[in-house]
Amino acid sequence: MNPISELHERMHIMQSVAALIALLLLASLATNAIAAGQLPALRRYRDLKVYSTSTPDKNQPERIVAQTQFVNEGPIPLRINARLDARQTLSFKGAQFGGEIAPGQSKVWQWSFIPPAELQQRQIINGSVSINGKRERDLYISVQGNDPGSLPAKGIEKIFERAQAVATYAPRTQESIEAEMAYRNAHQPKPKLTLAGQGKTEYSIVMEAEPASKEEAIGDLQRVIKLQSGVDLPIRATADGPAIILRKSDLGAAAKGLHDAYRLYTEEKNVIIESPSTNGLRNGVYGLLTDHLGAHWFQPNELGEEITIPKDRTVRFPELNEVRGSRWTSSSGASWGRALLWDRRNRAMIENGRMTFGHSWSGYINQNNYPFDKYPEYYARDRQGNIRRKGTDSNFCSTHPEVIEIVAKQLNTYFKNERDAIVSSIDPNDYAPMCLCDRCLALDKQYGQLNEDGKNVADRLLHFSKEIHDRLNPQFQDRYLGILVYAFQIELPKSAKPHPHHAGLICDMVWVFDHSRPWNDPTSSMNRHFYELVKGWGKLLPQFGYYDYYGHWTFPGPWGMVHKMREDLPAFRDLGGTFLMLEAQANFATQGLNHYVLAQLVWDLDADVDIAMEKFFQEYYGPVTKPMRDYWLTTERLYALERPGANNPPRVAMRPECWTELQRCLTLATLTAANLPTDQKRFADRVKTTSDGFEYAQRYFKYQNRYGEYARDSGRPIDHMAAIAYLREQRAFFEAMRKQYEGDTSYWPPLTPPFLSLEVETAIKGHEAEMAKAK
Ligand SMILES: [Zn+2]
Repeated sequence: MNPISELHERMHIMQSVAALIALLLLASLATNAIAAGQLPALRRYRDLKVYSTSTPDKNQPERIVAQTQFVNEGPIPLRINARLDARQTLSFKGAQFGGEIAPGQSKVWQWSFIPPAELQQRQIINGSVSINGKRERDLYISVQGNDPGSLPAKGIEKIFERAQAVATYAPRTQESIEAEMAYRNAHQPKPKLTLAGQGKTEYSIVMEAEPASKEEAIGDLQRVIKLQSGVDLPIRATADGPAIILRKSDLGAAAKGLHDAYRLYTEEKNVIIESPSTNGLRNGVYGLLTDHLGAHWFQPNELGEEITIPKDRTVRFPELNEVRGSRWTSSSGASWGRALLWDRRNRAMIENGRMTFGHSWSGYINQNNYPFDKYPEYYARDRQGNIRRKGTDSNFCSTHPEVIEIVAKQLNTYFKNERDAIVSSIDPNDYAPMCLCDRCLALDKQYGQLNEDGKNVADRLLHFSKEIHDRLNPQFQDRYLGILVYAFQIELPKSAKPHPHHAGLICDMVWVFDHSRPWNDPTSSMNRHFYELVKGWGKLLPQFGYYDYYGHWTFPGPWGMVHKMREDLPAFRDLGGTFLMLEAQANFATQGLNHYVLAQLVWDLDADVDIAMEKFFQEYYGPVTKPMRDYWLTTERLYALERPGANNPPRVAMRPECWTELQRCLTLATLTAANLPTDQKRFADRVKTTSDGFEYAQRYFKYQNRYGEYARDSGRPIDHMAAIAYLREQRAFFEAMRKQYEGDTSYWPPLTPPFLSLEVETAIKGHEAEMAKAK
């Protein structure tokens, strides 16, 4: 399908979305004095989208005609002036565009170039975009040459023409971001109250109600005030003078649609945190600390904490009256369980992650409780009646009446024991083959699903969910039954409808969909498909979750996902999404910006991502801001300019510039941090953790690319002798890294998850075995 024409259909949704966002911003203004809505609307990143595609000129096929499209999804007209610089290697003389785009409309800029017959290296064309007279965006368009016939097409869109415009990246300019920060700072409300100063305070903490995780939240509150002012804030049973008061209270209409919400307000000299829930009270404490008192937990553990100390050691803040909460009904996984305290401090664990579920069928029926030989008819079978297996396990047959009774009975027991559980999984085993018995195929047909390979089973599983829900005891019928929108059940159902307590969780599988760009970017066929799936399921599902990977599970190196998540997460909410389950593996050293921005968006979907990133750069890196900003933003750019394709990390990592450009930033950062005074040593350590992670990833990738996973995937012969020599040479390095980052973990943020360590001994044994086999 032509992506540009498809956009027109999408504009309708976008227009109503833009109106909704404008309304929400207005609503938030009432409670939040410095909400983003007060700023010039054109600054909002999501208002302007820029996409490029290209086709060879019909009359002159060596000429490539590119179409760059500007889409205005904001509430005001945008006057766009864009420029692309000449690029000699593409015989491109440069181009200019000017035009006004009404809200909800788009305009196409056509330009062309003549690439050489054999364009060896990907070319990046640079440019800029002005919006309403101000230079707001940098512009990068990547052009890639014809693919060799021998290139396997797996996971990519092959390029048959001379060259193709494969990706567009239009990040906000540094000047634009700094201007907005200056604006925000100038419009900060003036401090009115003094909490503590010059070693003294009138204040105490009064817990009329206790927050969840009381020790850590109240401990952090006391510790931050102490660090900032030298004062110990006492905890009292009743107020004796002004106090920070935690109180259980309903928040009424102001908190409608918000989860784990709180109201934070000042009343005369008191600071009051109110919430109906203990989670809300905890969030209120962290809201006070993070949003108003300059305490940040940019990364996990001691090194990740940055607390601003006022010069006069006096803690002041303005009059407050705000209601805040997350728009997700549940969220978990912002550090994939590796740093739960960090999740909570960043208000990124919503409703205790109650909507969490995964593969489960073998938990109900497996060869231990129902042996294959005694109960063959309980299991998924092929057309000959043989049990279909994956490994040692098998899915069950979801239409067998006894199977349905067994599963329902177990769920009734589960919900009886787990009183707080809101959901239980009835999701099949991971990619395990589905049943092809007559009864199952007949059910598929009843819904109009005529495929007989069991690879499109959404209808069958929605039917199964209803069968189970009908058998839940009445007191459990308000609970949800969860099935992933994934693997053989990701395509839309033909005609089955979910029952009102069915929950779906769509998975943006890295190995199937395109993580080089947001999935609302229509220039990637994989993502156009994913967008349609989200849209379709969003209309059907009463509870619709999103699963994505913002810390990679097999690649510990640089992986820029911010440009993607900042579009995907709001787009998911707009299309009917209600909750998140995230797999952000703890590669904090080289992917930690993903984790930080993710946490901000879990809590506040309307957070300004550029401002959040700039805070991270300036406050987390202090005197080393510039080279570390370059490091993280270069990572984003490298990924955003990659061609459409699934599983992007190895493709980016195989470009030498991925390592050399980033290495240059880190070398400069290390030099800048080399002679800092002792009280600023933390900035040098923060550079060191990313440098360590980078070096670790480089050596890890080199191994996988020459002798491991990527070499095997591409069918290259492996030199086992050389592999063993490499591993022996690297052993000391990997052991030292593990010792530092996995030993005492209270200071350093996690480098990678432990399972991404290279197990040197095991790997050597594997290569030795391969060599023995070859003899
Ligand atoms: Zn069956």
